[in-house]
Amino acid sequence: MGAGFSCAVIGRKLAEANHQVTIVDSRPHVAGNCHTERDSGTDVMVHVYGPHIFHTDDQEVWKYVNRFMPFKPYTNRVKTTSCGQVFSLPINLHTINQFFGKTMRPEEAREFIETQADTSIENPQTFEEQALRFVGKDLYEAFFKGYTQKQWGCHPSELPASILKRLPVRFNYNDNYFFHRYQGMPEHGYTQLVEGILDHPNISVHLNTRFTRDQIDGYDHVFFSGPLDGFFDYELGRLGYRTLDFEKFTYQGDYQGCAVMNYGEEGVPYTRITEHKHFSPWEEHEASTCYKEYSRACGEEDIPYYPVRLVEEKALLADYVAKAREVEKVTFVGRLGTYRYLDMDVTIREALDTARGFLERAANDEPIPAFFVEV
Ligand code: UDP
Repeated sequence: MGAGFSCAVIGRKLAEANHQVTIVDSRPHVAGNCHTERDSGTDVMVHVYGPHIFHTDDQEVWKYVNRFMPFKPYTNRVKTTSCGQVFSLPINLHTINQFFGKTMRPEEAREFIETQADTSIENPQTFEEQALRFVGKDLYEAFFKGYTQKQWGCHPSELPASILKRLPVRFNYNDNYFFHRYQGMPEHGYTQLVEGILDHPNISVHLNTRFTRDQIDGYDHVFFSGPLDGFFDYELGRLGYRTLDFEKFTYQGDYQGCAVMNYGEEGVPYTRITEHKHFSPWEEHEASTCYKEYSRACGEEDIPYYPVRLVEEKALLADYVAKAREVEKVTFVGRLGTYRYLDMDVTIREALDTARGFLERAANDEPIPAFFVEV
């Protein structure tokens, strides 16, 4: 159930082991929120549900995706507009020197930032503590406080430090947003990549098809990558998500000169503008398709994007996980099935491991767990 990376990768592994696999998805396309399609007006490859940049240190995962579609070089270099200037992200030596009007060398900057940092915070637990401890109040307020408030709809003191730990701070001029060994974009987009994974004689794909629990009986086993709470018809309540609204616009020429421009200030209602032709730098386009991205609480009819894992959600999650463990013949996978903020490479790594775990257990007639990962 689900035609995103999780079930596509699991389905492929099972199909290659001679299982018959049925993939069901309620949407008209595969690839879930990674879906890409060419804009009919500009011909630009658009990341329909927001930007997805592939980056990983996992060689097996990198080889796996490249097997189905060659990746083109792409390096994510993010800019942010704040305090009436454009800065480079993640925070690096250029950002620090520009922000403080200095010409520091790496070690000088490191020492300077230590004087900004709140060293009384020994073991940062929240996003805010993590920021104050490692970059200090001024940089935190310019780049993280407003953006995070808009992105998550709550104060950074209510969010876990783990969210900020996604971003490095660098004392050199490396402005690569990611520090992974491999980074790139699938040449013809994510949807064609996932279609390639699903292209196997033992796999049948049914789009525009709703999954209902009574269909489980028709299968030996079900992998469910939809929302965990949705599987149970939300009977205990709804797990919180952030959803995104995209205001799409076109432009003749180069709108902003980069793929991703963040807006750090709270007064600007959107979090970032993405200009999609820059995600395919090997292509040439005169016209441009851009998205202004707004974040808000996910309502019943909205598409869930980011799981909000605060104290309240974690308690509800634990109840749903307990229920899921009682269900027979179903394994919950992926971002929505396990309610975690997952990057694509981690999703694929987990899917490969889940498929292997399943095949091993099935061969030995052992029970198949509801979760192959820690939720
Ligand atoms: N973040 C921020 N300012 C920025 C970029 C990111 O405060 O300019 C924070 C924000 O809370 C975000 C988190 O860092 O949710 C992780 O950022 P990342 O770029 O990994 O988010 P994604 O691209 O997955 O939305």
